[in-house]
Amino acid sequence: MIAGVRGTRDILPGEVERWQRLEQVARDVCRRYGYREIRTPVLERENLFAKGTGETTDIVQKEMYTFTDKGGERVTMRPEATPSMVRAFVQHSLEQSLPAAKLYSLGPMFRYERPQKGRYRQFHQLDVEAFGVAAPALDAEVIEMASALVAMLDIRDTTLLVNSVGCAACRPAFSTALVQALGDRAAELCADCQRRAETNPLRIFDCKVPADQGIIDALPHSADYLCDECRTHFDAVTSGLDEYQRPYRVSHRLVRGLDYYTKTTFEILGEHLGAQNALLGGGRYDNLVRQLGGPDRPGIGFAAGLERLVLAMPDDDRETAEVDAFVVAIGEEATGPARLLARDLRQAGLSVLFDPAARSPRAQMRLANRTNAASVLLVGEDELARDVVTIKDMSTGDQQTIARGEVSAHLTQRDGRP
Ligand code: AMP
Repeated sequence: MIAGVRGTRDILPGEVERWQRLEQVARDVCRRYGYREIRTPVLERENLFAKGTGETTDIVQKEMYTFTDKGGERVTMRPEATPSMVRAFVQHSLEQSLPAAKLYSLGPMFRYERPQKGRYRQFHQLDVEAFGVAAPALDAEVIEMASALVAMLDIRDTTLLVNSVGCAACRPAFSTALVQALGDRAAELCADCQRRAETNPLRIFDCKVPADQGIIDALPHSADYLCDECRTHFDAVTSGLDEYQRPYRVSHRLVRGLDYYTKTTFEILGEHLGAQNALLGGGRYDNLVRQLGGPDRPGIGFAAGLERLVLAMPDDDRETAEVDAFVVAIGEEATGPARLLARDLRQAGLSVLFDPAARSPRAQMRLANRTNAASVLLVGEDELARDVVTIKDMSTGDQQTIARGEVSAHLTQRDGRP
């Protein structure tokens, strides 16, 4: 047996129904907030992420699936969606063709991380991005949308964290303050943090090493170093959230693991998820479009981890696949007509099973029981002669005979479908 690759998962029948419900809710929330779907490729040029996600991030330094293809091109299996979304926005001049440049995408991402519960090497994200609007009211709307998504999935016990990481004008002073505050203690931090202190001090807040946390907790807060514009922006975002009555907590450690963020960052945590508790995260990125060769347009968005949303969703007993009927053929000459009956009912929109192996009626009944079909339709010599079907309701055991032409209406009615 050749097992699947470490860090990847099969989503099996039984679980896939939760995924389908999640995807349906995700699409519906996006529609309500005016986002249009876009599907970008898994493969992108390596430098899209070096430039977009950022050279000093863990993702680019340690986690990318990058290889040289047979034509000698360096390609990466996307570790996140935002750079691809920006690339497509620029490459297709979407701001000209779309009334509002609001885009969403659903699909797999790839990061070479240490797998654990809620963390995989192939995982899936809903990615939501809005381009061209700098107003803080959009930040509040996007955060409100993320909260609405979580609420519509009936996920309770969540915490919304927000922060501001400042902009190109005020961040350098904050970085300097971080390095100054660290002083000699930088040498006590883990090797990663020592590197971060040199290359991108903000990234120190990403550190999960327990021994480092005391030092990190004592570091200055980005919110105390904001320029006037960033301060005003952040205040407007939080008052927007107050108006929406979405409770939030300002978390000064929320700098997020990507380099492109400016001003607002946010995350929603799930209480019952263990160590990997971030359901979704995002923020504003006012320089990224220009950095990737596009016009000078602001952007904001978030990515939600579908595996974690599925883990956090409550159980739902609607989620077993419903089989409306199992057609049992009794005797050889019933096989053809039974097969056609199944086809006709399927055309009428019902979920119908039929045993193509034409086993004995008893074996077919056993199969019908195992598949949990709502009804069993018996077609035998007698039924054929009278052009009827015997319907057995599997929940009550009641049996009745119905004209063949009425079966579909009868089953649909029983189902409560229109
Ligand atoms: P990020 O793109 O790192 O900001 O992550 C956004 C969201 O994607 C997180 O909040 C998680 O829900 C999810 N996520 C990120 N990395 C993984 C992973 N390795 N496995 C599963 N979900 C992930």
